[in-house]
Amino acid sequence: MAEKRDYYEVLGVERNADADTIKKAYRKAAIKYHPDKNPGDKEAEEKFKEAAEAYDVLSNEDKRARYDRFGHAGVGGAAGGGAGGFGGFGGGGFTMDDIFEQFGDIFGGAFGGGRSRGRSQRVNRGSDIRVTVKLTLQEIAEGVTKKLKVNKTVVCDQCGGSGAKDKNAFQTCSTCQGSGYVITVQNSMFGRMQTQSVCPTCGGAGRIITEKCSKCGGEGTERGQEIIEVKIPAGVGEGMALTVSGKGNAARRGGQNGDLLVVIEEEYNPQLVRDGNDLIHNMNITVTTALLGGEVEVPTIDGKARIKIAPGTHSGKVLRLRGKGLPDVNGYGRGDIMVVVDITIPDELNREERELIEKLSEQPHFKVASKVENQNIFERMKNFFR
Ligand SMILES: [Zn+2]
Ligand SMILES: [Zn+2]
Repeated sequence: MAEKRDYYEVLGVERNADADTIKKAYRKAAIKYHPDKNPGDKEAEEKFKEAAEAYDVLSNEDKRARYDRFGHAGVGGAAGGGAGGFGGFGGGGFTMDDIFEQFGDIFGGAFGGGRSRGRSQRVNRGSDIRVTVKLTLQEIAEGVTKKLKVNKTVVCDQCGGSGAKDKNAFQTCSTCQGSGYVITVQNSMFGRMQTQSVCPTCGGAGRIITEKCSKCGGEGTERGQEIIEVKIPAGVGEGMALTVSGKGNAARRGGQNGDLLVVIEEEYNPQLVRDGNDLIHNMNITVTTALLGGEVEVPTIDGKARIKIAPGTHSGKVLRLRGKGLPDVNGYGRGDIMVVVDITIPDELNREERELIEKLSEQPHFKVASKVENQNIFERMKNFFR
């Protein structure tokens, strides 16, 4: 944490500035550094927070007096230190939400409306719908377009969502005189402030229905079904949710549709177990292949691959098929298939086999058991839990 700047300096006011000057200075800073005006600009965000913090202290007579006497320490902010934020905000400094909560968003979303602050936004919004889509490994690897049949609230086809019997079944709302908005005046830190909000009588429509639609009873919506095409990118994973905006439930009387959330579920594939973008395959080989080497077949996402086993391969050895795993969902390359070798020991031997093995056991390379096997088990575990 950098050294805290002097609050008067932050707002650019004299130490003896009166309350009105401080308020004006803060308003100026807040407008200049407001996140709606500086989207994605971290420095502006910090400046915005710094100004809010300074204003919080200097606008409060008691806090200001303590600050004047003791500096940052007097208002709970350790001067130049790492610990502690300041009074009233639990030590962590201001978050953006704190600022909007405390002072209100002075712009009410005036900057392009990209910010959804809730409260003052339009009243009618349909709810979101969550659906789960189960994908095979191959679908995840390649990406897939799914057609989903979704049961949802749709716009009433008789009234087109208006909720009225016909286009003459309306009258102008008397509360808002048809504007859809009401103005409330409230006293805030910026003085008297006028706020526009959605008319509570007509819900922003500016008119009220005199005769309701017979099909939907005035709601403007009904239960229905929609086939929705969803393009799922390659590399998605269990639990990821894709948002298809505007494809959720329709809102009452022509409001804004909710969103469709498509939650990904992976179909379990026992042959290729997913580990991030890598796939793990447990492969059993015979004792003789382990000793003599050979070629074996390994399943891949879209088929099979043949890989070489070197003579003297131990149990637990991991062989990598580079680039044969899953593509990264953000486009950062591709994972591998990791083949973990396991050697199958026959459960029983016939007489001939038994004689051969007994003969073999007298040979020099079969006389002493080394510890290699055990080390490999650890290595194998490391590879698994990496
Ligand atoms: Zn209707
Ligand atoms: Zn109204």
